[in-house]
Amino acid sequence: MEKLSKTSLNYYLSEYLEDLKRAGVKDFRRTPLRFAAPPSPTDVERPAASAESPKSASGKPSESGATQSRKPAPSASDDERERALAQIAAQVACCSLCPELVANRTQTVFGTGNPYAELCFIGEGPGAEEDARGVPFVGRSGQLLTDMIEKGMKIKRADVFICNVVRCRPPQNRNPERSEADACRPFLDATLDVVRPKYICCLGSIAATNLLRVDAPIGKLRGIVHDYKGSKVVCTYHPAYLLRNPAAKKQAWEDLQLLMREMGLFK
Ligand code: SF4
Repeated sequence: MEKLSKTSLNYYLSEYLEDLKRAGVKDFRRTPLRFAAPPSPTDVERPAASAESPKSASGKPSESGATQSRKPAPSASDDERERALAQIAAQVACCSLCPELVANRTQTVFGTGNPYAELCFIGEGPGAEEDARGVPFVGRSGQLLTDMIEKGMKIKRADVFICNVVRCRPPQNRNPERSEADACRPFLDATLDVVRPKYICCLGSIAATNLLRVDAPIGKLRGIVHDYKGSKVVCTYHPAYLLRNPAAKKQAWEDLQLLMREMGLFK
């Protein structure tokens, strides 16, 4: 695996630190992270993200029309990628851009999982239990997501990366405001630029519309393979919605099957 040079790392870090400064982040402190143990070197080798137009499972172009391309990120050693994520988490831990969320949060909830994950799940924001524990998708929704990953897709939760559109709990579990999602977007982009997942699964309309910058209900975004900076994106219902509407689990399973076909895990 190609090692990230000190110059490249410094360039990359200075780029996203500038993004964060533009977003108003001023304070920089270190904070502990919860990551799974890095995989073996053979697990982390992967081809560069495809520059081809995104295709749906049926071979049609993505309907999202997303045309962004990820900054060419150099490959990094285990330490360097974890260090880059730790730097972002440190910014998150002392961020105060959203006054209402800051006033109500117990702590920020950065993300969890494998820094080398090929698959990243994105939800909307932490709930009460996530806020208390500092880990995304714990509690009933988290257990359902774990079941979707481990029992449905037959992969370990520890092998994926999980984060949210916003890193602070909205009070009374309300949806994040657009301004809050926009304020937190540099953290999401920086995280994805480090992990560089080949596949992303958006959980619910808040995650899907914010990541893809589209204005459409989740029903219109399902069933299509979208593109975000070269990552293939599949959208499905949020686990909390599935707990309230068990009948929608059938559609969610269809979405996971679409994702698994793209990943070569399902024929
Ligand atoms: S939601 Fe994101 S941008 Fe807003 S205060 Fe929390 S970490 Fe900062």
